[in-house]
Amino acid sequence: MIQIKDLHKSYHMGNNSLHVLKGINFDVKEGELVSIMGSSGSGKSTLLNILGMLDEADTGSYVLDGVPIKNLNEKIAARYRNEFLGFIFQSFNLINYKSAVDNVALPMFYKGVPRKERVEKAHHYLEKVGLAQWSHHLPSELSGGQKQRVAIARALASEPKVLLADEPTGALDTKTSYEVMDLIQGINDEGKTILVVTHEEDIAHMTKRIVNLKDGIIIDDSPVKQVRAQQYV
Ligand code: ADP
Ligand code: MG
Repeated sequence: MIQIKDLHKSYHMGNNSLHVLKGINFDVKEGELVSIMGSSGSGKSTLLNILGMLDEADTGSYVLDGVPIKNLNEKIAARYRNEFLGFIFQSFNLINYKSAVDNVALPMFYKGVPRKERVEKAHHYLEKVGLAQWSHHLPSELSGGQKQRVAIARALASEPKVLLADEPTGALDTKTSYEVMDLIQGINDEGKTILVVTHEEDIAHMTKRIVNLKDGIIIDDSPVKQVRAQQYV
């Protein structure tokens, strides 16, 4: 599903430059649940943003579902991004004045899905994340865990091939984090390919493979025996 070879990325600020990714290689197969783990500043978000086509590497190659991602014009990049990828962020990134169901339906509006279908799908995915009763509530009326569930429903509604989650539990307390990981594990059990960026070891062990990033280099990439979040929720 994902093949990256020798990715490099630097940021330039005035006369200074910071070499953040220093030759990253890895493949992700369909159906995997992988964490990218590393301390703050190790380059996790930079890598995830490149995988998410929100940013581009300086050199190296990236092939997503057989499509080489390089020098795409913004229109085509946006189409692939919408078709292939779903995003989950630490800060949920919900629209505050829209209800849960409208938040979930909004990306489908931009994709031109007819109103009836997008409302039906939005309700379907809210039900899937356990929020059927909350569909007409505003984000301000939801807990952090519920907000992240809305964001997960929104990401799923576009039926992406890959879900990319950047510190999805970073703003949540421990118990709520495990509840969200339980949901993510369930979605992966159904076959979805998922990448989770985290600096927390216990969260990483709830995936099936840990890619350990340090100072822009992968220092370890190993399968792990998945800890089921269910036992903690
Ligand atoms: P992580 O997600 O692992 O905490 P990041 O990928 O966000 O790490 O950042 C890696 C390094 O790159 C950090 O030193 C950060 O300050 C720097 N950095 C990230 N984004 C930018 C940017 N847009 N411009 C300049 N420096 C950046
Ligand atoms: Mg980060």
